[in-house]
Amino acid sequence: MAIRKVARMGHPVLRAQARELSKKEILSVETRELVRDLIETMAEYRGIGIAAPQIHESVAVAIIDYPEEQGLTVIINPKITVLDETEKGNWEGCLSVPEIRGLVYRPQKIRVDYLDLKAEPQHIIAEGFAATVYQHELDHLFGVLFVDRVRYEPGKSPIAFTEEYHRFLVPQDEDDVGELAD
Ligand code: ZN
Repeated sequence: MAIRKVARMGHPVLRAQARELSKKEILSVETRELVRDLIETMAEYRGIGIAAPQIHESVAVAIIDYPEEQGLTVIINPKITVLDETEKGNWEGCLSVPEIRGLVYRPQKIRVDYLDLKAEPQHIIAEGFAATVYQHELDHLFGVLFVDRVRYEPGKSPIAFTEEYHRFLVPQDEDDVGELAD
């Protein structure tokens, strides 16, 4: 078990399509150790989710610790289906894009089909902020970062350093946006 170094934006591992795991691989000691490292690394950096590419492993594994009452979910080989196209904006952050926040609009109801650590099929319906958290994490398995999804407009600042976000952007947006830092 180990706290692993987090890959930062610019590292090619964050842009690769993560490889899906076979049933045999999911049940292996290596996958168990990878998940333990993800958990330790996420806790160290106080994230609410982390994906394997963020610790330089290009495999389709992510862990999500939201919402709290649901406990930690290990997601392997996921497929996302949008159930409601209605979008909501949240200020997102990412362990791989430190000190930056970006306003990202995403569908607010999705279904995720995935395999668990026993290689058994599971699904989860994520709504509201949880839908944003799942989409952000699972984007990492497809080489996508939240900054790719920020909609830029002249005269607006939908991306900001964390300090300026807190100084200038929180007050005007606090009624209608949530916040995600992972
Ligand atoms: Zn992230």
